[in-house]
Amino acid sequence: MSHAAVPPVLVIHGGAGVIKRELSPAKEKAIRAAMTKALESGYAQLKAGKSSVDAVSAAIVVLEDDPNFNAGKGAVFTHDGRNELDAAIMDGDSRRAGAVAGVERIRNPILLARAVMEKTPYVMLSGQGAEAFAQSIGMPLVDPAYFRTEERWQQLQKALKEDGAGKPHEDEDAAKHFGTVGAVALDAQGHLAAGTSTGGMVDKRWGRIGDSPIIGAGTYANSDCAVSGTGWGEYYIRTVAAHAICMQVSQMRVPIKRAAAVVINQEIPALGGNGGAIALDAHGNIAIPFNTDGMYRGWIDASGVPHVAIYGDEDDGSSAPAPAASADDAGDQP
Ligand code: ASP
Repeated sequence: MSHAAVPPVLVIHGGAGVIKRELSPAKEKAIRAAMTKALESGYAQLKAGKSSVDAVSAAIVVLEDDPNFNAGKGAVFTHDGRNELDAAIMDGDSRRAGAVAGVERIRNPILLARAVMEKTPYVMLSGQGAEAFAQSIGMPLVDPAYFRTEERWQQLQKALKEDGAGKPHEDEDAAKHFGTVGAVALDAQGHLAAGTSTGGMVDKRWGRIGDSPIIGAGTYANSDCAVSGTGWGEYYIRTVAAHAICMQVSQMRVPIKRAAAVVINQEIPALGGNGGAIALDAHGNIAIPFNTDGMYRGWIDASGVPHVAIYGDEDDGSSAPAPAASADDAGDQP
């Protein structure tokens, strides 16, 4: 189903977590600049008449290349000191999707996920097989050392010291910044897309794969709704979070703000999980719920002006309570 032409919209996130006003001014500035650059890069695609898939890819590449986020360069380390990256992208109009999991030598996993969608009969490739596919299409492999940052290395050392049980997120500090990145976009043709890219959770073991590359859990798009999640991935998988939001929107005509709030602010915390999501419907309505202290988030709507917010108490309206089930959500944007 295609919707009438609408002004393009792009929404991005750079992870949800315990983000208090303790970021150094330099770090905060760098994060806001990177988020703005990602918005501008993705929105330029939309303005040029390109697809929502193009916009999502362009925005995510900027964040993967920036060491401040847990995706691409600057990804968190596994228990044994490696970076294993996951990513997915979905085209809402065709419901084609591509994903990669556990790749260690791909500079921009979102681009490989897109290639899986566009160039293979498959949806998800993992590990060495995914890297062999990358080589087969001429995508260069990078030295795994490319992803390393000292900050992430120290984060792992801290987690290892306090570890023992191997249960991620037990240590509050390790859970501080999840830092996954994602984007959802609505293009001038009225088509939606969603994408997510992550290093997963610090100190993860045994080839653990989170929700981000799992279509329906951390990433989903159809013709009515697009979602990218960030948070404690196991809970997003168990609630099939992104799909659960979109099914309410497309099957039950629930306003997107309410649909997203039901899953992110009720269902996931009720099970003991945490995190946030960005969600967008085919009319350009945005929802950015999170149940953590903060979430790196940004959007460009019909006004064409990039907005970036970090803290939970920033007056951006995006974390306002969802309207009642009967309320009309039209125009209810941040
Ligand atoms: N959801 C990601 C995972 O569990 C982590 C995150 O969003 O920060 O792999």
